[in-house]
Amino acid sequence: MREVRWERMFPDELEAAFAACPVAYLAYGLCEPHGPQNAVGLDALKAHAIACETARQHGGIVAPPDYWHIHELGGYAVWAHNSVGQVERAWMTAVPPWIHFKNICYQLRAVDHLGFQAAILLTGHYGPNWQDLKTLVELVQPHVGARLYALPDFEANEPGFAGDGSSGDHAGKVETSLLWAVEPDCVDVSRLPDRDAAGPHFAMGGNAHESARRVGEQMVADEVAWLGAKAGELLEAYDSGRPEARLRTYEQVESLWDDVVGPAFREFITMQPRSADENVPVDSVWHANWPIPSRR
Ligand SMILES: [Zn+2]
Repeated sequence: MREVRWERMFPDELEAAFAACPVAYLAYGLCEPHGPQNAVGLDALKAHAIACETARQHGGIVAPPDYWHIHELGGYAVWAHNSVGQVERAWMTAVPPWIHFKNICYQLRAVDHLGFQAAILLTGHYGPNWQDLKTLVELVQPHVGARLYALPDFEANEPGFAGDGSSGDHAGKVETSLLWAVEPDCVDVSRLPDRDAAGPHFAMGGNAHESARRVGEQMVADEVAWLGAKAGELLEAYDSGRPEARLRTYEQVESLWDDVVGPAFREFITMQPRSADENVPVDSVWHANWPIPSRR
């Protein structure tokens, strides 16, 4: 199988892959509760594996996956309080939005400065972070040469082979089946709780018992076809006449953050409470980082 993972490639392999198809894939997710039946890294394992299969079939290079992602504040804390509950350890690799999105700016600088003509940012972790990722990419696009597209992987999951039209869930039939297809060692259905046992089962989705590896394989194939077509569109849109648009220095990234992203950042959805009347009780393990800091 052709190697497409940046960190595992030799320089000559990277040069050949880049010459053939200058598309970068950046995959995001975090370790968080995904039911007793899934490895906690599901989101990034899924996004990275789908990106790798896309690159194998359609060309491109897959950047090292980013396992540090947004959680524990605002609506994410409310979700954790309800769906994970009072566990002693949730095994999360969480960072706040201002760390996550600034890191992405630096990742885009690396990609752009290398000369990639297109980059697809694929998040396997949901909640409102993907909407902010799209906003970030819109803000950054005028300042980089590479053509950018950001999405949650469920956007590419068309036509929604899960059978009920759903394209995304949390550790239910869709996500469990997808992980089963791409990383079979990371799904163990013998760990599923009894169907009528009271939850929450470490944030397991209600229809997880309906998961099936072959359903996952079909959904992976659908996502790969969608992403391959999107990469082709981005390459066609690339304008080789604007090489001056490249982000090169750390200083340029800091200015981009201060002048372009910063003024819009306070409006990012991950920086808002999910709704005004929701909170996390003081005695919850999810209370500490729930309030959105006002100084950001
Ligand atoms: Zn997930």
